[in-house]
Amino acid sequence: MGTPSDRAPLAERVAELLAGDGPLPIVAAGDPVLRRPAEPFDGQLEPALLARFVEALRLTMRAAPGVGLAAPQVGVGLRIAVIEDPAPVPDEVRVARGRVPQPFRVLVNPSYEPAGPGRAAFYEGCLSVPGWQAVVARHAEVRLVARDEHGRAVDEVFEGWPARIVQHETDHLDGVLYLDRAELRSFASNDAMAERWAQATPDRAAAALGFELP
Ligand code: ZN
Repeated sequence: MGTPSDRAPLAERVAELLAGDGPLPIVAAGDPVLRRPAEPFDGQLEPALLARFVEALRLTMRAAPGVGLAAPQVGVGLRIAVIEDPAPVPDEVRVARGRVPQPFRVLVNPSYEPAGPGRAAFYEGCLSVPGWQAVVARHAEVRLVARDEHGRAVDEVFEGWPARIVQHETDHLDGVLYLDRAELRSFASNDAMAERWAQATPDRAAAALGFELP
C-alpha cells in the first residue's frame, strides 16, 4: 500500500524529499519504483527545483559513497542520473578495468547502444542492493545520447569503467537492475569480495565459483 506521497505529482514529491537535510534515503531492491521505466524528463521540475534535486543526488551519491545514482533510487521516477568517479584505485586495477576518473555529470533522458563488439566482465555493485556484488558482462564501449542538466545535447562514446557506469545508471531508468544481467554464480558478499576476490579481474572467481567469462 502506498503512502500519500507516492501518489503526489513528481514536483511535490521532489520538493518533499528536499525538505530534509543531508543525503536522501536510498530505495532498496523490492521497491516497484526500481522496476518501472522512469518518465522522460520534460520540465516536470522547474529549473530551480531541478538544480536542487541534482545537487541532492550528487550529495547522496558522494555520501553513500557510489559512482552513480539514478533518480528512481531515491524514489523519483524520472529519467535523470548523476555519475562521478574519482577512481582511487591501484594502477593494476586501473589498467585491467579501464577505471579512469570520471568527472561529475548529469544525464537527462539518457540512452545507449553498443559502440563496438567488445564485452567486459567485472564485479559491480549497486547502492540499492547493499552488501553484495556480482560479475556483469557489459558492452566495452557504448555511445550515449542524452541531455545535460541545462538541456544541451550529449552524444558521446564511453569506454572502460565509465562505460560500465553509464550502462548501469541508464538501465536503472529502464527498470533494470544489474542483477538482471549478472552471472548469478558470481554473486558474492562484500566480505567475500574483500577476503577473496579483490583481484583486478574476476578470472579466479570464475574458476572457483563456476561461472563463464566472455
Ligand atoms: Zn545501481
